[in-house]
Amino acid sequence: MTQMLQGLMQDDFPLTLNHIRRRMRDCNHGSELVTLLDDGSVSRIEHPELTKRIDRLARALAALGVEQGDRVASFAWNNQRHFELYVGVPCVGAVLHTLNVRLFAEQLTYIVNHAEDKVIFVDDSLVPVLEPLAGSFESVEHYVIMGDGDAGGLPGALRYEELLEDAGDGSFDYPELDERQAAALCYTSGTTGNPKGVLYSHRSISLHSSATLMADGSGLSRADRVLSVVPMFHANAWGLPYGGALAGSDLIMPDRFLGAEPLAGLIAAERPTLMGCVPTIFNDLLRYADAHPEVDLSSLTNAACGGSAVPRQLMKDFEERHDVRIFQAWGMTETSPVATYARPREGEHDDAYWDDRAKQGRPLPWVELRLIDGNGVEVPWDGISTGEIEVRGPWIAAGYFREDDEDKFDSGWLRTGDIAAVDEKGFVQITDRAKDVIKSGGEWISSVELENELMSHPDVVEAAVIAKPDERWAERPLCCVVLREGSDADAAALIEHLRPKVAKWWLPDEFAFVAEIPKTSVGKFDKKVLRGRLAEGTLEGRVQLS
Ligand code: ADP
Repeated sequence: MTQMLQGLMQDDFPLTLNHIRRRMRDCNHGSELVTLLDDGSVSRIEHPELTKRIDRLARALAALGVEQGDRVASFAWNNQRHFELYVGVPCVGAVLHTLNVRLFAEQLTYIVNHAEDKVIFVDDSLVPVLEPLAGSFESVEHYVIMGDGDAGGLPGALRYEELLEDAGDGSFDYPELDERQAAALCYTSGTTGNPKGVLYSHRSISLHSSATLMADGSGLSRADRVLSVVPMFHANAWGLPYGGALAGSDLIMPDRFLGAEPLAGLIAAERPTLMGCVPTIFNDLLRYADAHPEVDLSSLTNAACGGSAVPRQLMKDFEERHDVRIFQAWGMTETSPVATYARPREGEHDDAYWDDRAKQGRPLPWVELRLIDGNGVEVPWDGISTGEIEVRGPWIAAGYFREDDEDKFDSGWLRTGDIAAVDEKGFVQITDRAKDVIKSGGEWISSVELENELMSHPDVVEAAVIAKPDERWAERPLCCVVLREGSDADAAALIEHLRPKVAKWWLPDEFAFVAEIPKTSVGKFDKKVLRGRLAEGTLEGRVQLS
């Protein structure tokens, strides 16, 4: 019998966030973290100095009685103190639970009680949102206010800066951690049923951060300045804070100022190279920049967009009109989140190149992906056949925190609920979320593709396509459209725009011209709400074509 010959490497060196902290302290001299403040000015701190505050935070956590494995929650926007929690809490062996500040009250109560959060760190600007819920939290022992603002009625509220002051100077004796121990917790937004907790390990975060830095991912380096607009409570801000810290990039945090005007000002002043956010925010920014030609966004040579399909026209308009390059990535809370990245080979920017840019991209190294059809059979990668994406890899969830959901897992693979085709080059193209598919006469119509084509019309600001029940075909597409102000485009004009681009039977026979597409807590089109309005008969501006 042959015997395994063990390698002779330091295989037990743990992949933990303590490495990122030490790197920031020792290797990131000159790298800074910038936060936009209430008065429009910014604060700046270099990484080594920041780690001294993280040491104080570690001591403060110990003084509060935080022990390994305890859940410590944050209720905060993207700012310096939230970043300190991002590093400090996991480094003492506790688990940072990032609460989505835009969730409904019942969901927040459910999540805090389910996670059994022991401490909640809250931005002073968010105290009024949290305060009415405090009575419903069963496990919280301390509230810590970040900032000088009013503590409201939060029971026994402590002050972040006072805790750090009391903690005093000097290094902290960080515990030896196992790379498999939990570091962070994030709940899915729970579009169906209760939100579910995804519990990241030090190892999964370390590997995810490293892989996203690769050249065919975000490609971040020491020379980059990263503007993380995607909230730190939305799937680890897509790994940008940890990845940036690992690379030694500068980090720029907009706090709660996410409107196009403050963002454009911040970009012009701080010259980030990468900005990460969902398409709706990029869309707002594009309209603002078009209306204000003096705004200079051209430092964004490597922006990252995802969370929902990124319209090709949005990327092209940014590139052609503002010298901004946006690359698309795909993933979900359960995948840490980045799983694929669209980085076609550079060359001529012809239609084939843009076809690839508009796809969701190739799996990152260490992510394995397959497509499974409705009969459980694997679908070939031919660019046409579609199936549900299943993924596996070292930063993909293997289960949910304190909840069994066997349907979500298939012998070591995560069922994503996304339907896609994959081409011969390994580029994934999402056609729909399983719950959004439109099945007409037994065939699928891709709502994502129809939306993409509609949003390439110059007068269409937003488009979301939902299924409308139909006696003959089972379902037909209904296109909810927001037109540019002053536009006189009508349903017939939009049909003519679509006619050369999609199959005849995909052409919608109904539009709804709405003032706004409702958005989820992380800024995606909320089709559930549109479907609800359709069912109730309250969907406005409906126009039927004969
Ligand atoms: P939720 O949208 O349910 O709040 P997530 O933020 O985890 O939670 O979203 C994950 C989902 O977002 C994916 O399953 C997919 O449907 C969608 N998504 C993410 N990125 C993209 C993308 N680039 N293109 C299309 N869909 C995307």
